[in-house]
Amino acid sequence: MNNINFLLSSINEIKGVGKKTSEILKKKKINNIFDLLYRLPHSYTDRRIKMKIVNLQVGKISTIKVKVKKYQFPRIRNLPKKVICEDETGTIDCVFFNSYEGYIRKILPLNEEVTISGKINYYKKRYQITNPLYVSQESNLIDKIHNKYSLTDGITEKTYNNIINQVLNKLPNIDEWLSSNILNKFDNLSWKDSILKLHDPKNIGKFKENFYQRLVFDEILATLLVFSEIRKSIKKIKKENKKFNPNVLVKFEKILNFKLTNDQKSVLNDINLDLASQNKMFRILQGDVGSGKTIVALISAINVIKSGYQVAFMAPTEILANQHYSLAKKIFPKEICIDLITSNTMAKNKKEIQAKLANGKLNMIFGTHSLFQKKINFYKLGYIVIDEQHKFGVKQRKALSDKGGVNCDVLLMSATPIPRTLTMTIYGDMDLSIIKEKPKFRKEIITYSKIENKIDEVVKFVKKEIKGGNQIFWVCPLIKESAKIDHASAIKKYEFLKKIFPNQVTMLHGNIESKEREKILKDFLKNKYKILVSTTIIEVGIDFPNANVIIIENANKFGLSQLHQLRGRVGRGDKQGYCILMFKSNLSENAKKRINILKKINDGFFISEEDMKLRGFGDLLGYKQSGEKIFRLADPIHNQDLFILAEKEIKRIEREEKTFKYYNLIKLYDRAEIINELV
Ligand code: ADP
Ligand code: MG
Repeated sequence: MNNINFLLSSINEIKGVGKKTSEILKKKKINNIFDLLYRLPHSYTDRRIKMKIVNLQVGKISTIKVKVKKYQFPRIRNLPKKVICEDETGTIDCVFFNSYEGYIRKILPLNEEVTISGKINYYKKRYQITNPLYVSQESNLIDKIHNKYSLTDGITEKTYNNIINQVLNKLPNIDEWLSSNILNKFDNLSWKDSILKLHDPKNIGKFKENFYQRLVFDEILATLLVFSEIRKSIKKIKKENKKFNPNVLVKFEKILNFKLTNDQKSVLNDINLDLASQNKMFRILQGDVGSGKTIVALISAINVIKSGYQVAFMAPTEILANQHYSLAKKIFPKEICIDLITSNTMAKNKKEIQAKLANGKLNMIFGTHSLFQKKINFYKLGYIVIDEQHKFGVKQRKALSDKGGVNCDVLLMSATPIPRTLTMTIYGDMDLSIIKEKPKFRKEIITYSKIENKIDEVVKFVKKEIKGGNQIFWVCPLIKESAKIDHASAIKKYEFLKKIFPNQVTMLHGNIESKEREKILKDFLKNKYKILVSTTIIEVGIDFPNANVIIIENANKFGLSQLHQLRGRVGRGDKQGYCILMFKSNLSENAKKRINILKKINDGFFISEEDMKLRGFGDLLGYKQSGEKIFRLADPIHNQDLFILAEKEIKRIEREEKTFKYYNLIKLYDRAEIINELV
């Protein structure tokens, strides 16, 4: 067996690991020896021989070398069995409950010298150890520091240590995969030495030491290498390039009543270069809420259409698809033929649209993910834009890109600003463009917090805003009252507000039929109603230039990033935006901290970093439910420097290394599997 295969071999291969043990380990996601090596000890027990019987301290775990003097086995079955042992300073009793005589005689043979370790008790003026687990004539098996790993029921510390020690003793050398330059940064510690140090009790908690950093780096490098390979394979695909006409932008800026920001222009340039090149585009556009991604995507679509291709624009919700479609209808040149497919589209219309997509009469289609059903065939699809789909995993993205065919470019857009290290982990297979800047005239949203019982003040504020011609979102965490959770519900709030603001309040939530939902939104957009009570359904992407106040009930129920997203629904026009976070009085320290961050800061990227620090990075994108950890050791919060270093190294590898010498690294870490399961 070569060294890599040894590390990848099943834990069943280890002596002492039977079916039962291996099943327990597998439940803890320890399938092979490599997995086992990456479970760290969290503390240890010192079982070194340090004293004689006379010095023993009651209640402490101690290890002593003694001679077995006498058995006291009572006739009555259920009484404890006793073995009296001694050294030159005193005596101690080993007391056994529920153990067989034969077993006791075997581990503690009369007149022999044995080493015993356990907690020291004192009973009827005699020292004793009850049911000692650590008993051996070979003192070196016990006389040392024993690591403690987090174990599940059914596996004792002794068994686990026995397993891991066997593996550590047999640990093979493996060919170094790190370049000498990088290895140097980690004091030239090999993988094997690093692993041995990882399990050395002296090193518990030493996350900043070279051995640990090296192993973290290995893991990050393995992750980025897999992405690099995916990227390369996408880049290899040669496509027909699209024609790029700079006049499109000039014409557009005349139609729009604003100029693109510098960031928008530079991103548009990234995209246009990709579209006009012979390499397939696979790009993610990140930009804070309200940074103006939609317009960038629409302008880029025009060139694609003018080059003779079709474009598919996919949004996560029908409301949003509708809005993008309406915007395009308003600003696209008349000769471009566009349409929308939602679940509300009549069957007859749907057929017609499908036919037009198939024969090329339709240039662009808007819709939800139903756009990619089997039934829908394109005449010549050249560009897919996907809005707000951060829940799309690597596999789904790849499938989509494949469905589009060789000539199809792909652009993903996300308003979930996430820290760079996380972007590398999740979107590493894509090229990245970022819009940081917001449109110039836009004012920062002013954020207040209010205790629930001061709702009168909030109502007063709302009255004033309505008088000024503004509209209000009122967000509740629940649709209906719940006996279990004490949170505000949309229905109750709606009833409450209707009395104060007759004929001015409408309501939106997930239980309302989608046709009805659309009508509600349209009416609100037309300013028929002043207040829209809703659940978080309005969270993603919708654009209401006239709404400038958002009130969020039970604000402490939401994560920072989510609150920032919700807040981004207002202040999109040129008016001053306000966000009022309502909460109950009993706020936790953590909740207070979060509310203060929101009050002070409007930058989504910064907020997501804070969110990550407070909640951990898995939670940020909502894929923690699976319980799956993305990394064994690496941590996008604490290892930012190593992520940056790995990114640089990847670029060097892509540039300089002709042969691929990282198979072992990738094989061991099996990042491809984990990456596929991401999000
Ligand atoms: P997001 O990036 O959150 O998807 P949108 O594309 O929905 O943002 O844009 C938000 C609002 O800002 C829209 O009303 C849009 O018309 C407007 N907008 C976009 N770009 C600019 C700009 N450069 N100047 C002024 N307003 C802009
Ligand atoms: Mg958007």
